[in-house]
Amino acid sequence: MKTILPNSTIGVFGSGQLGRMFAIEARKLGYRVHTFSPDNDTPTGQVSDFEVKADYDDLDAVRAFARSVNVVTFEFENVPSRTVEAAAEFVEVHPRGEILHTTQNRLREKTFLSSKGFPVAPFRHIKLVDDLYRGVSDLGTPSVLKTAGFGYDGKGQQKLTAIGEVETAFEKLNGNEAVLESFVEFEKEVSVVCARGQDGAFAHYGVIENRHRNHILDVSFAPSLVSEAVFKDAVAIAREVAETLGYVGTLCVEFFLTRDGKLLINELAPRPHNSGHLTFDACVTSQFEQQLRAVCGLPLGSTEFYRPAAMANLLGDIWSKGEPNWAAALRSPNIKLHLYGKSEARPGRKMGHLTAMATSLDEAIAMAEDARDALIDLPRS
Ligand code: AMP
Repeated sequence: MKTILPNSTIGVFGSGQLGRMFAIEARKLGYRVHTFSPDNDTPTGQVSDFEVKADYDDLDAVRAFARSVNVVTFEFENVPSRTVEAAAEFVEVHPRGEILHTTQNRLREKTFLSSKGFPVAPFRHIKLVDDLYRGVSDLGTPSVLKTAGFGYDGKGQQKLTAIGEVETAFEKLNGNEAVLESFVEFEKEVSVVCARGQDGAFAHYGVIENRHRNHILDVSFAPSLVSEAVFKDAVAIAREVAETLGYVGTLCVEFFLTRDGKLLINELAPRPHNSGHLTFDACVTSQFEQQLRAVCGLPLGSTEFYRPAAMANLLGDIWSKGEPNWAAALRSPNIKLHLYGKSEARPGRKMGHLTAMATSLDEAIAMAEDARDALIDLPRS
């Protein structure tokens, strides 16, 4: 185990809000941060010591970047494998490139999970239109067709409700490989954000509950009101996934909780996750600091929550009528505002979030939603 001490430099592939919050935590602990992505003036770059703008395929730039840092991590999982391999010639990369390779493709991820006995919804590999006909007749409708690569926030997803939709749905794949999975009638969606250190230490934030709107995470809150058995199961599964992968860093395991109390893994995020943003304000150690500690070989911190908390995402839509009313949202002193420094507010784009902390979970959720509504001066019904 190699300990990377404060004042060392952490390299981050990717430059979005996850990297930004990671960099803020890293700088608090006295580390330097260099970020690498195809863009500049990025959410991560704005708070880093150094921002490299280069394509992930520019392996010379990748190698130069790797030589300038003491360890590499990432905040974006769609970094090509060869990029991670080139960096790994010079410096340790956490989590390992192989884990990234598995989790950046739904088919590889689901095949890995089911081969190791983890619970997932029944699925089929779709390459040809005949696979889709067979899949729909095996799994029934409704079912969900997802492209195998580059999918997040419901992108590349289609719900099939009848066998007659097969041809059109297949055409929309544009020749890309896909996964067909059973539609899960879930009671709720939950996640376990956890971290595993280089020494195998494990820490988790319990069960966080997630509500989506248009397939994009809308509100997360913790602790989720689930039975003790579901809590134990969710944490045990997350721990086993992390151990099976030999994971180092912060990991999120997203689950469907079915009406009969069964947990099915929807997907893994090999990095801090949107559902864990509330840990930034509400916990002794945030998911970002945990990632830092893990990749630097330091002991993990306490995951204790100060209070029940809720997080509401702020999408670009909020800007549609002009500058949001920030002061109105901050009227409650227990609201924390995070903005990611993105200059262009496009609909559906994650621009920031609000976290509310209260004495009860219901109060925290209402406070977060009210504060968000206040941004656009909407009285809540
Ligand atoms: P994903 O991009 O796979 O995380 O999907 C985004 C959201 O779509 C999930 O959080 C669910 O709300 C919904 N979804 C995805 N897959 C399924 C499924 N098999 N059954 C029901 N809902 C799903």
